[in-house]
Formats: sequence, structure tokens, C-alpha cells
Amino acid sequence: MPSERRAAVARAGAILEIDLHAVVANWRRLKREVARTVRMAAVIKADAYGLGVAQVAPALARAGCDLFFVASLDEGLALRKVLPKASIAILDGLLAGGDGDFVRARLVPVLNELGQVMRWGKTHPYRPAILHIDTGMERLGLSRAEVDRLTAHPTLLARIRLAAIMSHLACADEPGHPKNPEQLARFRASLAQLPHAPASLASSSAIFLGRDYHFKIVRPGAALFGINPLPGKPNPMRATVALRAKILQVRDVDAGATVGYGATHRMERPSRIATVAVGYADGWLRSASDRGSAAIAGQRVPVVGRISMDLLTLDVTAITANRAKPGAYVDLLDDAYGIDDAAEAAGTIGYEMLTLLGRRYARIYRGAR
Ligand SMILES: *Cc1c(COP(=O)(O)O)cnc(C)c1O
Repeated sequence: MPSERRAAVARAGAILEIDLHAVVANWRRLKREVARTVRMAAVIKADAYGLGVAQVAPALARAGCDLFFVASLDEGLALRKVLPKASIAILDGLLAGGDGDFVRARLVPVLNELGQVMRWGKTHPYRPAILHIDTGMERLGLSRAEVDRLTAHPTLLARIRLAAIMSHLACADEPGHPKNPEQLARFRASLAQLPHAPASLASSSAIFLGRDYHFKIVRPGAALFGINPLPGKPNPMRATVALRAKILQVRDVDAGATVGYGATHRMERPSRIATVAVGYADGWLRSASDRGSAAIAGQRVPVVGRISMDLLTLDVTAITANRAKPGAYVDLLDDAYGIDDAAEAAGTIGYEMLTLLGRRYARIYRGAR
């Protein structure tokens, strides 16, 4: 590491380590779950779920991934600069005024409604696009009536090169949910009506619903980044982030003292409080106030009091003074306590926690070439 960078890391209040080897290992792990003939794309919207698309995308491309999904046109344009050759699909679809950018940057729009299908066929004939069929999410994608109109007017699709036909499941993380087979059946029915094209239904969790759900292209996002695609079961994915933060101050407090804003946490006995340089402005959600924990030299200590903008407070009474001291690091995320655990303490899901990861952290990428 260059000395300037090393100095920046040393003075940072918190360090986020991102393991690109683990991201690639997760991509390969998912690939083993599907048949050889299935194409494994990667969904890297929202800056690769917060991990940094400029680092994550090349690592995945080197591992063999050649199809990427992002949400917005801007994300696509940024990704094109990073990956000159890969196929890049834009989930948000065609928005007014964006057509020229799609063509210039060779981005593939996901056509989410009939109007977009008509426009793309008319203004950019024979250029690739992905057709998105809604099968029960009621968010984006052609409705059943729109699919019927498409099949009644085959000329509407005649001038579009269908790179894929996709749909998205609402309840893939609940394997027993009746909505999964319902959506699968609706997707199959729509596919049977439409011209042949590679089909794509599965995000991370859906890959684990079995081969019926894989079709020709799978599009995982979260699991690549270590989020458990099987909530309630052991996580088959590797953790990709570690977060450690500095203790800024340690203080002895009397029994009856209250810690932090709102005086929500009263100490029952004389205690020691460590104040750590991570707060909700760093993505450590305020809803995790008085909940969850951190580790100091492997020993877990509870969060006490409210999370504030830049700080959180830990009860370190049980930790020896030479370990819990200013300048020492606490582990907020590690292999033992991961993004899903921290998210649960905050009353949310790993997806939200990960995509909110702060911009103030000194970021270290492991496994970067
Ligand atoms: C975000 C997204 C995915 C990836 O989902 P994960 O649960 O993160 O694997 C796949 N398809 C669509 C349409 C998405 O919006």
C-alpha cells in the first residue's frame, strides 16, 4: 500500500475491508448450483450493493462473468467505462430522452412496458433488448394484457433482438411460498406465447429453489456480496465485508448514569463506556440503538444508548482496560457477526444495511489485482 494511502487508513475512524476474492468465490459457488448451460450474470446495481462497482465489476469479469445488470442508465454509463466489452442491461428500462445514451454506450434496455417495446423497435430496430414480463410482482414489466397484445401483433416484436425474456419473483426467499410456483407457471405461459429467447427468472434466493427456476440466465446480486440467500438456514455464501472502527474515548460512568441522546440507556452499575467512530451517517442505522453488538479481541460487547450521527457507544465493562482503550479497534462486522446479523439488530435486511455502507470509511480492497 502506498504510504499516503496507509496514512489515510491509519487516520480513518473506521476501515471497511472488501474481499474481492470472496465475491468471486461466491459467484463461482452460485455457478456450481446451476447447470453448465446456464449463463451466470451478476446484478451490481447501487454501486455493487455498496461495495464499489469499479472494483467489483472487473473482478467478476476476470472470473468469467460477461453479463451485468444495473438499475439506472447512469450506473450503466459508469459501468461501461469500467468494462468496455461486457453486456450491460439496465433494469429501470427506457426513460424519455435516454435512447441515444443506450445506443452510444451499447447498453441493453430492459423493456418494462409496451410503450417501451414499441419505441425501441421503431427507433433502434434490431438492437438487443430484454423483455420484462410481470408475473405477480406488480412493479415493473409487461402485464398479462400487454403480453396478449404483443402476441396478437407479432410485428411489434419483429424489429427487436430479444437478448432475453425475464421476470422477477416476489417471494424467492421463502421456498414454501405458493407465490413461487404461481409465478413460475405464469412465466412459462408467457414464454410459450412469445418468440423464443433466453429466459431469466432467478435472483440469488431463486437459484436455491431448484433447477425449474434457472432457465437460461440467472441473475444473482445479494448472494455475491455475502447476504444469505436462505434466510433462517446456514449461509452458504462467504462474507465479503469486514468493518472495524476506532475507539475514540473510554470513560467510567457511575451507576444510574445515562448514555447518549434521549438518556435512553441507564447503567445499572458502575460501568465503562467506549465511544466508537461510527454512526448513522456511516450507515449504522439509528434503529440499531440499544441493540446489536460489536467485538473487541473476539469478545462481544453490547451497543448501549442511541446511535448518533458519527458515534456509537459500547458497554466495555467486561473488557480489560488494555484492550478497550482509545485508538484500539472494535469489530463491527466480521465473519462471526455479519451484515445479516447487524441488519437484524437494526430491524432491517442485509440488502439495506449493505447498500447504506458509509462513504466515510477508509476502504481497503483485498484480492484486487
Ligand atoms: C436486484 C434484482 C436482482 C438481484 O436480486 P438479489 O436478490 O439481490 O439476488 C435480480 N433481478 C432484478 C429484477 C432485480 O431488481
